[in-house]
Amino acid sequence: MTGLASISVDLDGLGHYAAIHGLDPGSVSDEARGLVHRLAVPRFAELLEGVGARGTLFVIGAEVDAKARGPLEDVLRRGHELASHSHAHDYALSRAAPADIEADLARAEAVLSEVGAPRPLGFRAPGYTLSPALLGALAARGYAYDASIFPAAPYWGAKALTLGWLRLRGRRSAAILDDPRVLLAPRLPYRPDLAHPARRGQAPLVELPMSVTPRARLPFIGTFVVLAPWPMVRGAYASLRSAPFLSLELHAVDLLGPDDGLPEVLTRSQPDLARPLAAKLSRLRQVLEWLARDFRLVPLREAARSVDEVTAAAVS
Ligand SMILES: [Zn+2]
Repeated sequence: MTGLASISVDLDGLGHYAAIHGLDPGSVSDEARGLVHRLAVPRFAELLEGVGARGTLFVIGAEVDAKARGPLEDVLRRGHELASHSHAHDYALSRAAPADIEADLARAEAVLSEVGAPRPLGFRAPGYTLSPALLGALAARGYAYDASIFPAAPYWGAKALTLGWLRLRGRRSAAILDDPRVLLAPRLPYRPDLAHPARRGQAPLVELPMSVTPRARLPFIGTFVVLAPWPMVRGAYASLRSAPFLSLELHAVDLLGPDDGLPEVLTRSQPDLARPLAAKLSRLRQVLEWLARDFRLVPLREAARSVDEVTAAAVS
């Protein structure tokens, strides 16, 4: 049986990257803030359509202003899936009071409904941090899947620093390290335990983890594809190509380059932002061609529907 692969993009805003680097989010102009939706969103759709695929865009409600609506409506019409990446993209969402979690999820859903999207079936947590309260809220609200689990090896954090992967990922690694159980989470789709999201259980929704390689647990995500030495990317892919499921997660900045008008304060602080767009796109296209050859490419909502099949195939 051919495995399923899903490609998704998190539409994290540039103001958010500025904040991570300790810069005033106000140092990013409105023009630059608009790049994620104006340029990265259509590029994501084109990249996938180039191999005949449709993907999933994780929208942050608070980042959607009047100018962002057109591009989102357009990709929706073209058959891509819009899912929720929360409203405020607050790293502490998983620890918030239940009423605050509900309010954030509801606001993001309202924004998606305003751009004409159906009620979202999927969610990815800010900073990939889940909690029983957050997973429970998603289940209660009828989500079909969560896509936040990122079972990458902790040493990757240190290795990433030597690659110059810097503070953005450092911060995310820190978020992951405060709950090491996530590193033991299944690498393939599973039904989580609502009380322990990183363990198998009987939840009504499914977990679709971001892909990491089998033994080293290298994260097979956009930043890795655009920054890691190419033989390492090929090797990582070779270890995943016969898997029953692969989830490749990109960020909007993987689809933006310095010539797009990215603020210099950001291109100076983050190596993946300084890399020319053409180089990033050519690596991403190559990986998508591999994926299209070896897998059936579907949006995450479709992978979620087939999860019981996928896990059965993995076990047998
Ligand atoms: Zn994010």
